[in-house]
Amino acid sequence: MTDIVFKNFKLLDPEVGTLESGQQVRVSGNTIAEVSPSVDHSPDAEIIDLGDRTLMPGLIDCHNHISREILAGPPSMLPSLSAARTSSVLHDMLMRGFTTLRDAAGADLGHKEAVEKGYFVGPRLFVAGKSISQTGGHGDHRVRADQSEPCACVHLGPGIGRVADGISEVRKAVRDEIRLGADQIKMMASGGIASASDPIDQLQYSTEEMEAIVDEAARSNTYVMAHAYPDAAIRRCVEAGVRTIEHGNMLGPETAKLMAEKGAYLVPTLVAFRCIQRYGPETGYNDEQMEKNEKVLAAGTQALLVAKEAGVKVAFGTDIAFWHEHQCEEFLIRGEVLEPIDIIRSATIIGAEVVRMVGRLGVVKPDAFADLIVVDGNPLDDLGLFQDQGAHIPVIMANGKLVKNALIG
Ligand code: ZN
Ligand code: ZN
Repeated sequence: MTDIVFKNFKLLDPEVGTLESGQQVRVSGNTIAEVSPSVDHSPDAEIIDLGDRTLMPGLIDCHNHISREILAGPPSMLPSLSAARTSSVLHDMLMRGFTTLRDAAGADLGHKEAVEKGYFVGPRLFVAGKSISQTGGHGDHRVRADQSEPCACVHLGPGIGRVADGISEVRKAVRDEIRLGADQIKMMASGGIASASDPIDQLQYSTEEMEAIVDEAARSNTYVMAHAYPDAAIRRCVEAGVRTIEHGNMLGPETAKLMAEKGAYLVPTLVAFRCIQRYGPETGYNDEQMEKNEKVLAAGTQALLVAKEAGVKVAFGTDIAFWHEHQCEEFLIRGEVLEPIDIIRSATIIGAEVVRMVGRLGVVKPDAFADLIVVDGNPLDDLGLFQDQGAHIPVIMANGKLVKNALIG
């Protein structure tokens, strides 16, 4: 494969937070080989003139679900159809500029390998397999009237959760997810919106169970991401050693301080609640679920400000399971209270920390993976450039491959 050289662009380095002209980037294989004012390259290298556009690292979404039966009840599609749908979801996500996705339950090693082997064209994946949930917790897919035991029909179906209670069951569940290829372990630590029988403020899992889940993950050199809305649930997670708090809508200042001290990350997912508000009923959300959504929606962008004040590192997440075309509205919602550079850092360098790929993802530097996007304008001034399904992103490179180049022809 010949090298690719990008020239004539403004570099957006999220660490610096400004645009810088005068650099060139040489990509060799799937890696950024050189960033300098005049890169060395062989005569047969492919030169791409970016016409003074902005070159920046590809975006990282740290909480989404690409393959998901989100609502309680029996599975609604065969695994084959689910995989086909996922392929299209991944393609469209990459075309919006997301070159990395941390899936927050539902996607498995098969999806990840499908991207790596080129069967699916999509972002680099970090998968969680099934989330671990207590009986009646957010990952228990049974409706209230269902009196059957959770079984293989739940565990092996396309649902996102598996039920495990007590120390030995949760240890076994984590071990099994790691056996199945999970990159990180997802735990349900409070009530949720889509599940049938758990109020939002329910504190799920005992301290001992949480600690056992964290211990199992740590001994396999991975970590726990936990779904939690109420402040008390977030606090319990952080005290038990959970590394990333998902949603975190009701985060209070004291807990935020603890998160900052412990180096825990917050991954808000604000666009999901707005989408449920708009499209929930027509998608099958019942009145009870819509009421739960109102509760977390009311907290709005508050957690972003609480986290910023306490110095908590915040990653970019969206949690869109049905309405992926709205994924990038998360930029605009956060833009209501934060500066564009804060949000861009969340979606690049902090995302890279979350997936434990510092220096390899979220940066345009030698030895990083060649995950790059080119933007028609300056995103530091206009987050609208991330809207419209990638219309303002004419070039996308994922793992060294040009998956979009609208500058040709
Ligand atoms: Zn959740
Ligand atoms: Zn989620």
